[in-house]
Amino acid sequence: MDQQYEHGDAGELGDAEYAEFMELAAEEGFDLEEVADDLAAAGHGPLPVLAVVGRPNVGKSTLVNRIIGRREAVVEDRPGVTRDRVSYEADWNGRRFRIVDTGGWEQDVLGIDASVASQAEYAIELADAVVFVVDAKVGATDTDEAVVKLLRRAGKPVVLAANKVDGPSGEADASALWNLGLGEPYPVSSLHGRGTGDLLDAIMDALPEAPALQFGGVAPGGPRRVALIGRPNVGKSSLLNKVAGSERVVVDATAGTTRDPVDELIELGGVTWRFIDTAGIRRRVHLSEGADYYASLRTAAALEKAEVAVILVDASETLAEQDTRIVTMAVEAGRAVVIAYNKWDNLDEERRYYLEREIERDLVQVQWAPRVNISARTGRHVEKLVPAIETALAGWETRVPTGKLNAFLGELVAAHPHPIRGGKQPRILFGTQAGTRPPRFVLFASGFLEAGYRRFIERRLREEFGFEGTPIQVSVRVREKRGRKK
Ligand code: GDP
Ligand code: GDP
Repeated sequence: MDQQYEHGDAGELGDAEYAEFMELAAEEGFDLEEVADDLAAAGHGPLPVLAVVGRPNVGKSTLVNRIIGRREAVVEDRPGVTRDRVSYEADWNGRRFRIVDTGGWEQDVLGIDASVASQAEYAIELADAVVFVVDAKVGATDTDEAVVKLLRRAGKPVVLAANKVDGPSGEADASALWNLGLGEPYPVSSLHGRGTGDLLDAIMDALPEAPALQFGGVAPGGPRRVALIGRPNVGKSSLLNKVAGSERVVVDATAGTTRDPVDELIELGGVTWRFIDTAGIRRRVHLSEGADYYASLRTAAALEKAEVAVILVDASETLAEQDTRIVTMAVEAGRAVVIAYNKWDNLDEERRYYLEREIERDLVQVQWAPRVNISARTGRHVEKLVPAIETALAGWETRVPTGKLNAFLGELVAAHPHPIRGGKQPRILFGTQAGTRPPRFVLFASGFLEAGYRRFIERRLREEFGFEGTPIQVSVRVREKRGRKK
């Protein structure tokens, strides 16, 4: 090999496969630093989670945008549309983490204090470290003090951002925030970027390299973790009551910080499962308008802690946009997915016909998810949930060895080459599955691969290797024209 690369982290690939792969990449003239970065990006385990909390309008979303460096990603000023995307991947100086923005809360639902507290609770619960944003121009308010109390109780590392310090004259306002007792206030202007580098350095110091415990606060091993999610009234608490019966065991309010998210151990099909945040499901606060965001945050928190999502859908009603959004959240979170069509006792022939059409139209993105038709009321087919969950988890953990993958890719490319574009024919040169849970592939190509061809590859990967019940991620690295370094 004529090139040095420093990243020795082979991750799930293992040392031998990693070295072999690097050799392949070197022969094809790829920049090995980039290849190592790609493998690290695809091969990482769960990332540490940073939550951004604070009162409305202090600049949380602006700060999150600044950190992830994609303005359009968060700020979506469509009135009446509640943001449901709350979690993003970010990195600073090569360290990757997930950032959770709680800025979407609608203020008037519970009154400011209560709403800030509830959203902060969920965010703190799922976080490994917290950025507490205060508007330095306004100074600390009673609500801020209330959040400080929550933060103290949670005992998670906190970095204090004194926002809206747009110039040197604001520094004094920032200093006043020492009074909150959270240590040094970092003066920043999220809007203009002033001071955000120092803030990020402090955040990196506070954030553990990996989540202290995998999947947001629950130790690996032990019962598999299931998030039962779905829009209000699809039958989540009914199903929970059906499966829990008298076997129900309420487990710790995790980390002793919050009163709300509580998990339950439930025996189902002879196996014990950990159902995430069952208290939240049972609590049934059906706040009218504006509860959407709160529900989304709760769903996001549950997904963060879970390995597999059982998405409950009310089969007796037309699929709603909210159903699709929840499915998207689970897929984007990279969790194994089972879809349970509930209230099957309520379906007649006609509804069944339309349901199938709706599924074809609205849920194509999860064609690969195992499906069960159940009734939480009568108990119909509830026992089929277990094999479905097991199938999905198996798909989620499947790993194709590099040699086998490349044999497959070679045949695929020979039989179905990429269409010629502008006189050129981009070609997949080789690839590897750098990660699992969910399966993540990195492909290396001689030119840009069109979306249609990428989808074709994903389809063929599934046909060949299964991956039932799991999203798969395929990233493509294109060889630069003059990629060959000395
Ligand atoms: P959130 O509700 O906490 O997410 O707050 P937003 O990020 O939506 O920001 C609220 C308002 O404060 C917006 O009008 C922002 O443009 C403004 N803002 C955010 N950060 C700064 C800053 O650093 N300086 C100034 N002057 N305004 C800011
Ligand atoms: P959640 O908001 O998702 O927790 O939904 P619930 O469990 O509270 O159920 C909402 C409503 O649907 C209640 O009136 C339930 O009795 C009803 N429901 C739940 N599961 C079924 C079912 O399988 N069949 C029928 N017919 N109704 C159901």
